Amino acid sequence: MAVRNEILRELQAEYEQQRMRDEQENLRRRDQAVAACPEIGRLLEERQNLIFSGLRGILDGNAQPEDLPRRMEVMNRRIASLLAQNGFAQDYLEPVYRCKKCRDTGYVGEPVRDMCDCLRSAFYARLYQRVGLGEKAEQTFERFDLSVFPDKPVEGKPFTQRQEMDMICRQCREWADRYPAADTSDMLLMGQSGLGKTYLMHAMAKRLLDRGLNVLMMSAYRFLDVARKAYFSGQSNELDNLMASDVLLLDDLGSEPLMENITIVQLFNLINERQVNGRGTVISTNLTVKELRERYTERIASRLLDPRQCTLVQFSGDDVRRRRT
Ligand SMILES: [Zn+2]
Repeated sequence: MAVRNEILRELQAEYEQQRMRDEQENLRRRDQAVAACPEIGRLLEERQNLIFSGLRGILDGNAQPEDLPRRMEVMNRRIASLLAQNGFAQDYLEPVYRCKKCRDTGYVGEPVRDMCDCLRSAFYARLYQRVGLGEKAEQTFERFDLSVFPDKPVEGKPFTQRQEMDMICRQCREWADRYPAADTSDMLLMGQSGLGKTYLMHAMAKRLLDRGLNVLMMSAYRFLDVARKAYFSGQSNELDNLMASDVLLLDDLGSEPLMENITIVQLFNLINERQVNGRGTVISTNLTVKELRERYTERIASRLLDPRQCTLVQFSGDDVRRRRT
């Protein structure tokens, strides 16, 4: 939850900044209008006094003077017409807000406060960004398009590529819906590039996020970068975040440079520590089982190929991206 609170705090601070900018803009407009027409200044002051006297009357236990709304209305109309005469829009002195619905507070509703749509969409955009989804947040199970996969038999299997993708998609969705109660804590998505692995990881990440889980998604290349920094600088904040997220999705394992002492050691630590702590890891790779063993040693491969720990999902068929071009 830490990342959610962090983002909310950031946004609340930004909204406060926005309200200060609104206020400055309101004052600037007022000064500008009064400089152009001092009579407007006098009327604004008179209107203010009228509001105060009305409020004071209510606080003193008196009813609001009956003609107050009418007098306000008259005054507002005079201000509006003076503004127009001086070349301003009639509503030039209405308070300005970026969002009229919440008046830049980020919240709406009385007495139960709810997030305004503007805050909610800013929050999710930033959440998806922060966990590594970025503009890929629209890649969801609902939008997954099976029709791009050829409906022709996969060699050596009793179904077509499209049927296989349908099964895989269900399997990934079920895992994301059930985690941490899924059959295994980890998943390994294996197959050549262009078969939809990364898309499904985005969809899983989004489903998990929507369920309120803490998720991080990054490429194996970026992971190596984080691991290398931690190794050389001793600063492990970023690595700690990777360890701590409920689910870590590591994309395209095998594409990163192999740095003997770092890649292997850090990757083993990552997988091991997450498994020991019961945290889920989803990994995609273009490598075959044989290549995985050769590149990452038996120690790592056995962790990822242990069916009690990790569900192996094998993608087969043609690269749909290549097919379409
Ligand atoms: Zn709003």
